[in-house]
Amino acid sequence: PGESNGAVTSGLPSAFISAEIRDLPIKQGGTGLIKVVTQPDVKLGGILVDKPLYFFPNEDGSQVSLQGVHALLEPGVYPLRLDATLPDGSVQSYEQLILIISGNYLTGESLPVDPSLIDPAVTDPEQKQLESITITTTPTPTRFWQGQFLSPAIAYAESTYFTSRYGTRRVYLGQGTDLKVNWWHTGVDFGGGDGLAITAPAAGQVIFAGPLTVRGNATILDHGWGVYSGFWHQSAIQVQVGQTVQQGDVIGLVGGTGRVTGAHLHWELWVNGVQVDPLDWLNQPYP
Ligand SMILES: [Zn+2]
Repeated sequence: PGESNGAVTSGLPSAFISAEIRDLPIKQGGTGLIKVVTQPDVKLGGILVDKPLYFFPNEDGSQVSLQGVHALLEPGVYPLRLDATLPDGSVQSYEQLILIISGNYLTGESLPVDPSLIDPAVTDPEQKQLESITITTTPTPTRFWQGQFLSPAIAYAESTYFTSRYGTRRVYLGQGTDLKVNWWHTGVDFGGGDGLAITAPAAGQVIFAGPLTVRGNATILDHGWGVYSGFWHQSAIQVQVGQTVQQGDVIGLVGGTGRVTGAHLHWELWVNGVQVDPLDWLNQPYP
């Protein structure tokens, strides 16, 4: 309800032929999809909220940018700016305000945990390592995927078999300490026991495969255009860095490695530096 295609038909500078932003308003944790048709030889950039936009040529002759909106961004009105650089170097810009609405994510009860689970001395370096892979100013220009993503648990579970959804918030309290961490769930968890097959939700290239302290045996796929999938807590990794995988290929096995209480698959999806709700990508094709 209330969703629309935000096609801009007037007020565009002459370098633009058309511009469209899909599924307005965008929810927290949503993916902004901006499709622009320009005059020939125009380079596009811009910003959504505070993130730089990267545009790539699409088969239909348009240029497309995908940008995640953070799950914790305060709902409100934020800028979308499109910058068109002409062959002579001059720049024409178009700006409008777009509405970001609540994702209605749940806040769970505060939970006391073993303080070593949330010790920033352990979690911060790993977070930085992850961000050094998934946040880049030079996204891969090839789009490896086509159409809708498939659940990585499709080999063993109904696509609705989630044990924890994206966006849930919780406070963790380090037992016997003053440690208090505002946590939020950056992906979706699928239940399922040790050794079940994890499949690639879409084609991509393996850019990380190895053990991490918190996330356990981890694999990261680069789907291109700044879109990355992460799979944590595996009992086995069955791909190597540099390998190309197709949608549905087995990439590893469900496990309980890293700092978890039981075997499950955590899948998260990064879209140009922001973890988004992966379910959106199971429900509709991008672009
Ligand atoms: Zn998880």
